[in-house]
Amino acid sequence: MVDLDGLVIGERDSGETGKTITLLTKELGCIHVYVRGGRKSKKSLSSTQLFCYAAFSLDEKREANNSVRYFYNSSEPKKLFYNIRLDAKKTALACYFAELLTYSSAEGDCMNEVMRLTLNTLYFLDKGGHDNELLRSIFEFRLLCETGFRPNLIGCCHCYAVEADEMHFNLKSGLIECGDCVTNPDSLYDVCFDRTLFHIIRYIALVEYDRLFSFKISEVYQRRLTAFTESFCEYCCGKSFDTLKFYKML
Ligand SMILES: [Zn+2]
Repeated sequence: MVDLDGLVIGERDSGETGKTITLLTKELGCIHVYVRGGRKSKKSLSSTQLFCYAAFSLDEKREANNSVRYFYNSSEPKKLFYNIRLDAKKTALACYFAELLTYSSAEGDCMNEVMRLTLNTLYFLDKGGHDNELLRSIFEFRLLCETGFRPNLIGCCHCYAVEADEMHFNLKSGLIECGDCVTNPDSLYDVCFDRTLFHIIRYIALVEYDRLFSFKISEVYQRRLTAFTESFCEYCCGKSFDTLKFYKML
């Protein structure tokens, strides 16, 4: 038996009446859990729905190849993020977050931060008052930072300038170069930041969690931030995401 807190980030039908849910957990990263009769049972229904955060009690079964299968035993909901499910656009965005989390298959030391980022982002998405696009940029960029892709944002890698009118980030090399030192500004992988955008990027990558969501930016900067975090995400993951395409269509 294993007791842990988990966030449901995926569900699919399994067998005649059962379902398999994907849980994001601090202790084990992403795990799949089989819920017997999960499509019918009222008992398990509320806390095995998408985006429910709950305390789960699971049974473990070790297979011949030493992998572990998890079976749902009981649960106690902690937070349902109910408003997300009432809004198609927010649901689509949360599904994109779930796909990114599944794809990143984060586990180990970073899980405290990944869990905190995910629950905080869903909290503000559910509560309202934050721009969806800002939440998306924060989630995309900070998730990759926490899972090993945080660029070195101290300053220009050649002259060590901490700030400049232009800072170039190359997606492929991962290097930051100022406008004076930049070696390949015409590269397809080059992204140019002005002082404000560089400050925003640094803030999202490095600030502590209790201040991460407490800023606002103009529409112009949001568009530029979105363009950067989306291409950074696609580059690091090496793919584009269908759930993001769907979100953008709405
Ligand atoms: Zn420089």
